[in-house]
Amino acid sequence: MKFIALNQYYYYNDLISDLSKLKIAYPDKISSRFIGNTVSNRAIFMIQIGKGKKGIILTGGVHGRESINPVVLMAMMEYYAMCLEDEMEAELFEKKTGIQLNAFLEEYTIYMIPLLNPDGYMIALQGFELIHNQELRNKAEAQGVPFEEWKANANSIDINRNFPSKNYVPKFEGDKAGSELETMALMRVFEEIESEAYIDYHSRGNEIYYYRKQMTDQYNEKALKIARNLQKTTGYSIVKPDLEIETGDTGGNTVHYYSEVYKKPAITIETVPELAKFPLALKYQRIIYSQILYTPFYLNL
Ligand SMILES: [Zn+2]
Repeated sequence: MKFIALNQYYYYNDLISDLSKLKIAYPDKISSRFIGNTVSNRAIFMIQIGKGKKGIILTGGVHGRESINPVVLMAMMEYYAMCLEDEMEAELFEKKTGIQLNAFLEEYTIYMIPLLNPDGYMIALQGFELIHNQELRNKAEAQGVPFEEWKANANSIDINRNFPSKNYVPKFEGDKAGSELETMALMRVFEEIESEAYIDYHSRGNEIYYYRKQMTDQYNEKALKIARNLQKTTGYSIVKPDLEIETGDTGGNTVHYYSEVYKKPAITIETVPELAKFPLALKYQRIIYSQILYTPFYLNL
């Protein structure tokens, strides 16, 4: 039985309730841990499946307005758990990917943070009145961004510009790398988990970023191979290095930090067509699910 329904509104509370349903349905397959709190006191969770020593870390919902990926990641997790219990599903999985999921998850563990920025996510869905702290709410409203296009957290900080990577740039006076609770939560996860690769799911563009300017040619060659593999399963295009530096190399990203510190592949997958408008239409949930379902298994590790 699948209980995570797609193409429907999905709020933070739905995610929390689906998380407990997942753990009840698959108690020996899925576990979760609390990895941090936000300024609006929302808990950030990481879900894991697998028994392997080698970790694969996945994050979604780093940017508030990118509302499709969190529920899609949850549905992916449910599907993997289902495949572990259902032989027919497992066979279908193997037919599609050439991978025996059971064996794969003996070697690897998938660590998924479906929603790193729950405050930003809820602001983008429902508006600035969700920020109860008046000072923070005023600050957010003063940014002049319609709530549906909100990317930052409740502190008006873009988490994906807040990591202490080499290319981090302060955005205003007093801005400090690693200042945010969400940033610290993910940095702790990176530190605590033995991982082989990291994927950060964003929206928009239907494309894959792999190139990391601060890293060696050898690193980038390996990352390109992974990107090509991911292209096979998603149908997305691969962003060329020069284009990445011009448009995507904006400093302080999760992927910059992870690649520099851990020297392992850090890939950004941009779901949803470039021309899609915010708020993103619910119809994208099912489409994106079919495009990225197998991505953690196409890392060529
Ligand atoms: Zn993003």
